[in-house]
Amino acid sequence: MTPHVLVVEDEEALSQLLKYNLEKEGYRVSVAIDGEEALMVADEIKPDLVILDWMLPKQPGIEVCRRLRGRQDTRNTPIVMLTARGEESERIRGLDMGADDYITKPFSMSELLARIRAVMRRIRPALADDKLQCGDIVMDRVAHRVKRGAREVHLGPTEFRILDHLMQHPGRVFSREQLLDAVWGSDVYVEARTVDVHIGRLRKQLVVGDEPDPIRTVRSAGYALDVESADA
Ligand code: CA
Repeated sequence: MTPHVLVVEDEEALSQLLKYNLEKEGYRVSVAIDGEEALMVADEIKPDLVILDWMLPKQPGIEVCRRLRGRQDTRNTPIVMLTARGEESERIRGLDMGADDYITKPFSMSELLARIRAVMRRIRPALADDKLQCGDIVMDRVAHRVKRGAREVHLGPTEFRILDHLMQHPGRVFSREQLLDAVWGSDVYVEARTVDVHIGRLRKQLVVGDEPDPIRTVRSAGYALDVESADA
């Protein structure tokens, strides 16, 4: 799934610039202008990463960081803080308070994006793996694109998530219930045969002409993505 980034920054020009560049990079982005709003938005969107300015009105970034860390949903969410030049002690306090990384203003956008990718990779390896490959199937998880050989494969969001899950565990057999949990979430009630429908759609897009079918149906067990046949 596309990582969702929460940008907490009171300078609108900067937050818009961050939003623009992060969206271009393939992230979903929400913006908050102060700590109260940040906590509210974080509750709502459950961000995958927070970019947190240290100089905020009302309550300082460090306090927002502490409160994010104190909440169940954001306890382990990576936080990258934005600090002003020369605030060495603030940076140390920030890292002590649970921030994962910091970047000093003014910064270049490419540096910030590289740091964000590094934090994602370190903390949530599955999320930050930009590209997955199995045989001739390549998935760009940031741009949400799939290719088989040179051919672009167009998938709906559910088919994309199923393929993403299978590609993360090539060769492993998943029952319909396991796929339901992984793709739809365990709190959603969906009939098991819905999985078959989406697997059918996924196959239709993935396999054209006489290309081998990489998805193996395991009778009464479930489905697996076969590396061997995908390699053929
Ligand atoms: Ca600020």
